[in-house]
This record gives sequence, C-alpha cells and structure tokens, in this order.
Amino acid sequence: MENTIPVFDFHCHIMESYALFKDTFFQEPSLENARQVISFLENGMAEKLAIPAITLYTVPDLPCNPLALYAKSHAPGRIYALAGLRRGLTREGNAGMVAQARDLIAAGFDGFKLICKPNVRRVFRFAINDPIFDEFYAEAEKCSWPILFHVGDPPAFWQKDQVPAWAVRYGWYYGDDADIPASGLLYAETFDVLRRYPALQVIFAHFFFMADRLDEVPPLLDAYPRVCFDVTPGSEMYAAFSAQRDKARELFAAYGDRFLFGTDNAGCQGPVRKNNLRKARENIALMRRFFETGDTFDGFGYRLRGLALDQQTLCKLYTQNFLRILGKTPAPVHPVRAAALCETYRNMIAGDEPFAENTIRLLEEIRDFFNGHL
Ligand SMILES: [Zn+2]
Repeated sequence: MENTIPVFDFHCHIMESYALFKDTFFQEPSLENARQVISFLENGMAEKLAIPAITLYTVPDLPCNPLALYAKSHAPGRIYALAGLRRGLTREGNAGMVAQARDLIAAGFDGFKLICKPNVRRVFRFAINDPIFDEFYAEAEKCSWPILFHVGDPPAFWQKDQVPAWAVRYGWYYGDDADIPASGLLYAETFDVLRRYPALQVIFAHFFFMADRLDEVPPLLDAYPRVCFDVTPGSEMYAAFSAQRDKARELFAAYGDRFLFGTDNAGCQGPVRKNNLRKARENIALMRRFFETGDTFDGFGYRLRGLALDQQTLCKLYTQNFLRILGKTPAPVHPVRAAALCETYRNMIAGDEPFAENTIRLLEEIRDFFNGHL
C-alpha cells in the first residue's frame, strides 16, 4: 500500500558549490535554480523543504544565500533557508561572524549550514573548533539557531583501495594529502565544540558518516540531547544500514526524535538540468522504499534491504522532527535586508574572479527583485 505520510526534505540544495566542486561539476547558477527547487514542491515531492546554502570563501558561491531567500519568497510557507556563513582565509578575515549571522537571520534565514568537507581544508585552514568560531557557536547555542553541519566524508575517501573513482575525480581522495586532517581528527574537533557548547541544535548531515559504527550513535545522542542526524545519502550509508538491518531498525525506532529526512536534491544548471526533476523524484522514491518497505532491491550502486520502519517512526523522520526544529512556518523574508545582502556580496567582487560576470548579474537581478518588493 502506498504510504501517505508527507515528506519534508531537510536538505535540498539550490546550486552546486564552486568551493566544493570547482571545475568538475560547477555550473553557473541563475534564477532557474530557484524555479527548479520550487518545482520539487509543485510536483508533490515534498510538503516543505529546507535549503542549506553553502557560502565559503569563493566568489561564484556568493549568490547561494540570496537565491535561497529568492526561492523562499516564491513559495510562501513552504521553504526554509539555512544560511551559509561567509568566511575569510585569514584569521582577521573571520572577524564579525556573529554580526554576519545576525544580519542573515534578520534577512529571513531560519538557521545555518556549516560545512567542513575535508577538501575545503586545503584552502580554508581553520579547524572546526578554532576560536574564530567560538562567538558564533555561543550565540547559536543561546539563540537556538539550528545548524545543519556537514563534517567529514565517507571513511572510504581516506582509503586508496576503497575510494570510488568518481570521488577521486572530484578531488575527494584524502589519504595521501598532508593538508587534510584524518577523519578521526575532524570528529575530535567536532566533539570539542559539542563539549563546550552542549546545547547547540546541530543536525549532522549524512548521518555524521557513522552508519558503519551504529554502536557509537546512542552514546553520542544520549550525551547531546539536541544533536540530530539527517539521512541524506551518503549512498554508502544505505548499504551499511542494510548490512546491520536489525540494529539500524532498533536505532531508528529507539531514537526516532533524532533523525531527519533529506535528499541532497538540488536545483541545477547545464546538461543535468533536463533530467533533474526525474532524478530528484527517483531519489526520493528510492529512499522511501528503503525506509518504508522490507524489499531487497538495487539502489545507489548497492544491493539494499529496506528497513520497514513503523508508521510512528516514519512520521518523525519525514515530518515531525523537521517541524520541531525549524518551526511550523518559515521565518519571513525581509526584502530590504535581502536586497542589502545582495549589494554587500556584489561589492565583494573585484571583477577578475572566475564567473564574476554571471555572479554580478545574478546578484543584481535578485537585489532588483527584492527592491521591487519594498
Ligand atoms: Zn548536501
């Protein structure tokens, strides 16, 4: 029987990140990216969704926050936006992080997306627990700002004999790279943050890459009652859940309040755009089949065995946890502040950076849209 529980997607991107993908996958974004995300809603693929915006230190990623607010404005009540914090590559360049965070919240964001994907450390050298972040973590804890936090990557990305060929192509093999911390060090940095800010409302993306270590999950969730994981693939997660099916089912049932559904679907451009809606739909169908049925089937390149979770656990995973953390309605977008944000980002561009022309055009387009709504 078709399951009728609505799905809320906690992890739906609006553009590829240049900092993460560079020449391998990045496509210049446009307003079409926002239209695609809205079409996911219009086509019944999610009841509501949250856009994690990735903004680190490169120019082509500057439109990500404004695009998220733009999409939000076009789907009232149904889109939440998690802001990326702009970072500098020097210590001084990271001053004022809390002022930046407050501005973003005031412009209409519902929380934050932090990313420490290991390849970023080749350029952005600061640890997750570096003092540059302390005032932000303290404020986030005080204000209960939800943070979707991507820490690490699948353990195989550090193992030469296990890393998938596509990951090598993206520059995501880390084993021989002295600039990139071992996986264990990234966890150690993160646990240090949690110890010092134990009430942070953190949602670790991709199950915190712990699906092959399920025994370690309950002690972590017990120690930090506001920590949650999303189940965004991380396709290897689903193989790991299948391999320890009973244990995974028990965990999802016992800690049902702590897991959120997310897809990594994305508004995108270029040749993939044509099939994007279909692929996004297939992704959700596959995930739902995994959680709702006990079927054995092929997915994400693995032989999977579904978890057949009970209705109550599914409701929490798909709907209730999302609404508890992000609220029943998204924060309203403040057009004046959103326009000012576009202008601030526009003024950061010297003009000779990669994709500068497109970035400026898009920022001005979104700024003008918000100015028209004053
Ligand atoms: Zn993601």
